[in-house]
Amino acid sequence: MVRIGMHDQGLPIKVSPTTNDFPTGSTSFPKIIIPGESDLLWVRKDVTCFRFPGLSLNQQLIHGVFTRMGGLSDPPYNGLNTSYTVGDSAENVNENLSSIKKAVEAEHLIFVDQVHGDSVFVIRRDHLDTQGEIPPADAMITDISCVALMIKQADCQGVIIFDPKRSVVANVHCGWRGNVQNILGRVIARMKHDFECRPSDLVAAIGPSLGPCCAEFVTHEEIFPENFRPFMVRENYFDLWAVSCGQLVEAGLKEENIEVSGICTRCRTDLFYSYRAEGKTGRFATVAMLC
Ligand SMILES: [Zn+2]
Repeated sequence: MVRIGMHDQGLPIKVSPTTNDFPTGSTSFPKIIIPGESDLLWVRKDVTCFRFPGLSLNQQLIHGVFTRMGGLSDPPYNGLNTSYTVGDSAENVNENLSSIKKAVEAEHLIFVDQVHGDSVFVIRRDHLDTQGEIPPADAMITDISCVALMIKQADCQGVIIFDPKRSVVANVHCGWRGNVQNILGRVIARMKHDFECRPSDLVAAIGPSLGPCCAEFVTHEEIFPENFRPFMVRENYFDLWAVSCGQLVEAGLKEENIEVSGICTRCRTDLFYSYRAEGKTGRFATVAMLC
């Protein structure tokens, strides 16, 4: 597992004059440097997103974890809120989603009603053709190009799983309930079953989410299975990033093919929404798309 770092609180960010290509090499735009960390954030037009260094090496995949910077939403949802169900105005959310769709140059931006369950939705061409109803789910998989899969979160993990050999991508919403239900294992089983993916070919990235510094679960004895116990880093605090890594490895991924952003959302509300830190707040987006 490659843990990228960056979970100190309040580090300033600044825009470097360096330019980089995102997402397909067609446009230059400033890169943001986070002092003491890797060069991880990119700005494009009015939005800013975090990209994983390893995943970025795959030319056939576009991905980004969009920060809350930019966007039209007013406090407490400021600014790039993607959720219609937190009290923000629908007009603002529409505009924010439109910015994200444009930034990744998607033909379709797909998201599901996330219910902290373990259902996996496989997006086929006929769903796009018929505009069919999308069932509640917490994971999406597709092998179709230009279809952006978007997960919404505020402390839960967005986990991107990509098969560079078969060109299949999954995007997963994984909170602690997702970990308890091993949704990551279910997604990989579905990728094997439906697309003949081999787990040893898969690469995965665990995005900004509640870090071990802040993941306190006082009722862990009631809600967590016994095998989470080794991931308790101090009294009542758990490393859910390591739990997810363990579940990915158990499903057959190579540990060196897993990246962890190392960014704790509760510590970095300047960049991301955190339900634990803020209560009433927005949801940021993790997007993955085949190109
Ligand atoms: Zn933290």
